[in-house]
Amino acid sequence: MPLIAVLPGDGIGPEVTREARRVLEALDLGLSFEEAPVGGAGYLASGHPLPDATLALAKRADAVLFGAIGDPRFEKLERHLRPEAALLGIRKALGLFANLRPATLFPGLEDASPLKPEVVNGLDIVIVRELIGDIYFGEKGHRTTPDGLRQGYDVMSYDEQEVTRIARVGFEMAKRRRKKLCSVDKANVLETSQLWRDVVTAMGAEYPEVELTHMYVDNAAMQLVRAPAAFDVIVTGNLFGDILSDQASMCAGSIGMLPSASLAAWSGANGMYEPIHGSAPDIAGQGKANPCAAILSAAMLLRHSLEDEASAQRIEKAVAAALAKGARTADLGGTLSTAAMGDAVLSELQ
Ligand code: ATP
Ligand code: MG
Repeated sequence: MPLIAVLPGDGIGPEVTREARRVLEALDLGLSFEEAPVGGAGYLASGHPLPDATLALAKRADAVLFGAIGDPRFEKLERHLRPEAALLGIRKALGLFANLRPATLFPGLEDASPLKPEVVNGLDIVIVRELIGDIYFGEKGHRTTPDGLRQGYDVMSYDEQEVTRIARVGFEMAKRRRKKLCSVDKANVLETSQLWRDVVTAMGAEYPEVELTHMYVDNAAMQLVRAPAAFDVIVTGNLFGDILSDQASMCAGSIGMLPSASLAAWSGANGMYEPIHGSAPDIAGQGKANPCAAILSAAMLLRHSLEDEASAQRIEKAVAAALAKGARTADLGGTLSTAAMGDAVLSELQ
């Protein structure tokens, strides 16, 4: 019986995770669930944002369903005690190097995007972002120059193995979709990007069915606004992926619609699934958060960790059907509560 670790976290995390769990339970797949505190909730329970028992559960589980973390009450604590420390801790401990962020525009939500309906129409892209390397994890520090100026530095680096494993995820993803992979780098300027491009290009020979293109990151930022629907899969490094995936998310309307997966392998392995939004302290406890991102994250869990594509699609179709019938939380211009939106999705599950 597959074990799902449920880490609801803080703010609206528990509210939206509850709906995602209800949907998973309704599918009757014989899953077992175990819950543990993380983030501010972890700190309150045990004095640390990532309690040992929570990390042990995440490691033992077949997949982790994550809510959100962040609690203004704990912002002043030392860095390692802040809720956010738990997220980096889990990613590192589970080796979650691949972050998948699909941005899909559900029919009927065209008006929710700041871009024109004809620009976002048909939007269905996935950004594959490398998650545990690049400039975020290289040597960093500050020093004084010979001229007495303060200087900060961060080293950007990737080795072949790191690029190979994320490129593999990009190609496998593209192969299962519209077979277009756009690799984003800055190879005209950066050594890391030249290595990146070499490795991706070489792997392309293994995937003759996938149309591979390369794009500089500045051009990619422009194309994501000009014609986002032209992309299928984008594979890129940690820094560029961080920026481009937030940019792409806006094409799809509300932040409350977007799920994500963080994976340690292309499929069949432990992974963590969470909405891209945060704990939203401004609306926490009011029952008005949109649970769709959490519910769609549960669909990704079934697809990638449990290799149950059929059940993943059942969930995605139910969300689309509920939206098509006009079900809307406040962020989408409606009046449904979090639980009522969950009910609307549940009633479309077949
Ligand atoms: P974090 O640092 O935890 O990522 P953040 O400061 O980036 O948090 P979010 O928590 O993502 O911000 O919230 C940003 C805005 O989006 C807030 O106004 C919040 O109310 C809104 N929001 C986030 N998630 C949802 C949701 N599921 N439904 C409705 N509104 C949401
Ligand atoms: Mg945020």
